Amino acid sequence: MRAIAKKIEEVIEKVDEEREINDLKDMIIDIFRRCRNCNYCYIDCPLLVSTRGLASQGPSGMMGSIYYAIRWDALSADNAESLRDILYSCTACGGCEIRCKQSATGLPIIDVIEAGRQLLVDRMFGPLPGQSSALKSLLINENPYGMLAEDRIKWLNEIEEDISQKVNILSKGQKIEYLLFIGCTSAYNHELINILRSILTIMNSLGVDYGILGEEKCCGDPAKSVGESALFEDLRDLNRKAFMETGAKGIITISPHCYNLFKNEFDNLKDTFEILHYTEFFAHQMDQGNLIPKKNFNKIVTYHDPCYLGKRNSVYEPPRNILKVTAGDNFVEMRQNRESSLCCGGGGGRMFAEVEENPRLSEIRVRDALEVGAQVIATACPWCYIQLRDGVKNSGNVGKIEVKDISEVLAEVL
Ligand code: SF4
Ligand code: SF4
Repeated sequence: MRAIAKKIEEVIEKVDEEREINDLKDMIIDIFRRCRNCNYCYIDCPLLVSTRGLASQGPSGMMGSIYYAIRWDALSADNAESLRDILYSCTACGGCEIRCKQSATGLPIIDVIEAGRQLLVDRMFGPLPGQSSALKSLLINENPYGMLAEDRIKWLNEIEEDISQKVNILSKGQKIEYLLFIGCTSAYNHELINILRSILTIMNSLGVDYGILGEEKCCGDPAKSVGESALFEDLRDLNRKAFMETGAKGIITISPHCYNLFKNEFDNLKDTFEILHYTEFFAHQMDQGNLIPKKNFNKIVTYHDPCYLGKRNSVYEPPRNILKVTAGDNFVEMRQNRESSLCCGGGGGRMFAEVEENPRLSEIRVRDALEVGAQVIATACPWCYIQLRDGVKNSGNVGKIEVKDISEVLAEVL
């Protein structure tokens, strides 16, 4: 009997999987048929600058390549590698969608690209090699960096005791007002420790009732963005359960990638919790008079919009408001800002893969900042921070410009 039940379960699972694949294909076909082929979206795609080899694809071309692979039943080993390279080059910056909305039919281009990646993963033609290792680690360690889950909170030992002792590490069932979600990159990358130090210092100074999870897990962005939907869904469910147990009224994220997922991809999570990026929370506290700078940030600073905060979620002003208050006239804008901001190259799963670029987007961004006389590029995303710092090194500009997180700028003047 048990064997029959198992067999039935397997058949149901297979039917469900096939249905999901067919739904994905229908969705891609339906959306691409609404594309006018006007190519307005090409104007805002950073790939046209950085990956010339794939340039002819552009946003609508990427959609077209997966559409025709489905229509011609050509999702095969013969063309899988080129299709994979095209689809996985996208940084999911959102520029094309904004342009399509403003000038054409408003197509959800990133959904099509992610669905195409899901089809490739299903046929075992995707993702890119480095991304496969990240997925393996996600499965085993619940982080994409190959680090042990039990070491996730070790960063706290690197922070001065007067700061770390005020951090509430939540045990099961413990309630707080705000949950601070640290994220894998901040937790495991020691070079980002000063960002954590700055954020905690500011949180402590506000006297907010906040805590962090004792057993935090990845938000699932590396899985979702490369098309591994089942793994993403597992992480989403585990996270949601842990969030519910805190009874928090709000979740504050450090990474715009966690923010984007909690806000847009965790079903109705945002109906239960206020989802905030830390820049939104701090900007609000400044408005309320709870964070008053004691001095002016005295270097010329510009702001690089993280795509998952700006173009993907229209959070443009809170980070700027913090910089305007802290730096005053020392805050300058780059030519490409807000909706027209250039991506750093790290989104869409590309932090885990080598995508050939010439020039690198991060280097272009550093040059953009130097062009307006900036001594500091401030950003508000751990991946942008890493990308830009590499951009400074690779473009030979060490000593001419520094990269800082907005929390570091703010902590310096409080
Ligand atoms: S702007 Fe929209 S409609 Fe025009 S080519 Fe791009 S995706 Fe298609
Ligand atoms: S999301 Fe960004 S990188 Fe991807 S196709 Fe659109 S504009 Fe290009």
